[in-house]
Amino acid sequence: ASNKKNSIIIYLDRSGGLSKLIEDCKQTGAVYRFSFDVNPSDVLELDATLGDCILHDPVKAVSLFQSVIRYTTIGYLKWLRVNVVLKPTHLPPFPNYCLDLSEFPRGYGPMRPLALEGLVIAMTRVTKYTQGARFLCSEEKCPCSRGFQHIRVHAPGATESATVRSDFTCFLCSSLLKEDVKSRVLGDKQLVELIHVRAVDVLGVHDAASLRYQSVTLFLRDELCNSMRIGHLYQVVGIPAHVHQWPNVTWSPCLVSNNFQNLQTAMACSPWRFAAIVANSFGSPVIPPGLYNTLKLGLLLSLVQTEDNPDSPYQLDVLALTSETLIIDRSRFFKCTCLFR
Ligand SMILES: [Zn+2]
Repeated sequence: ASNKKNSIIIYLDRSGGLSKLIEDCKQTGAVYRFSFDVNPSDVLELDATLGDCILHDPVKAVSLFQSVIRYTTIGYLKWLRVNVVLKPTHLPPFPNYCLDLSEFPRGYGPMRPLALEGLVIAMTRVTKYTQGARFLCSEEKCPCSRGFQHIRVHAPGATESATVRSDFTCFLCSSLLKEDVKSRVLGDKQLVELIHVRAVDVLGVHDAASLRYQSVTLFLRDELCNSMRIGHLYQVVGIPAHVHQWPNVTWSPCLVSNNFQNLQTAMACSPWRFAAIVANSFGSPVIPPGLYNTLKLGLLLSLVQTEDNPDSPYQLDVLALTSETLIIDRSRFFKCTCLFR
């Protein structure tokens, strides 16, 4: 490990990282954040094992950088906790380092940086997330009830509940930890939906073995916020993670009528056919089959998402722009009658 640490110092010196480091020490707060662009080719040339570590074990790489920075900044920094963010500028051009957005399942592999290419189809506003938090032991006699022993920082690929939660315990006395809210360090985050560029053509004609497309959510943090635009294609290096958003989704086939189950079985040869046939004939009393299929599919998806609770955040709203308001009114009315069945 000491060889790797020497290499880190040499690399930071050569890449201008050391002078940036001194500049970054002027921060205030409970946690010092240092972000470095890392060129994997340069690091591999300097020290193959360090380069390998950055590419395949980012958590270990960050902890190596952290200990080097802690060592080089003694005297500058009042507190020991430093938050290091390593941003690979690119990855080796091999399939092992690429994540194809049309492949499933995704995000179940080891947590390491992968390159992906996607089109931005939606994004949120910039909101805050907890970059770092300080916790104190609730047992007054414990040394951890003061000081900075329990500092947690956000790690790339981790969920935010890994930084702030109410059930952390003290490593000395196992008492519950309480957050010192005054010391919380907030950062910016923005969620961006990326989709494979071929998905733009998804409503065109496809053969039976068509690919399925599902967007992925990209978390842009801190200085990366507002760096993307809707409709543009981007190459991204990131750490894929599997985040459970709906842990209690249930599937109840008993509610599905026999006709639907038979249709589903008959259409199992293609991922598109079932949805296409249902959308095609949806609302046939008010709109002739075959017309406004995209609108009908949208209304169907919205129906599927609709829960009893109208304030649920998971409702799917449908925005339709047309000069044919009669069609929209009829189909919306038809959708509402389905809701009350
Ligand atoms: Zn304690």
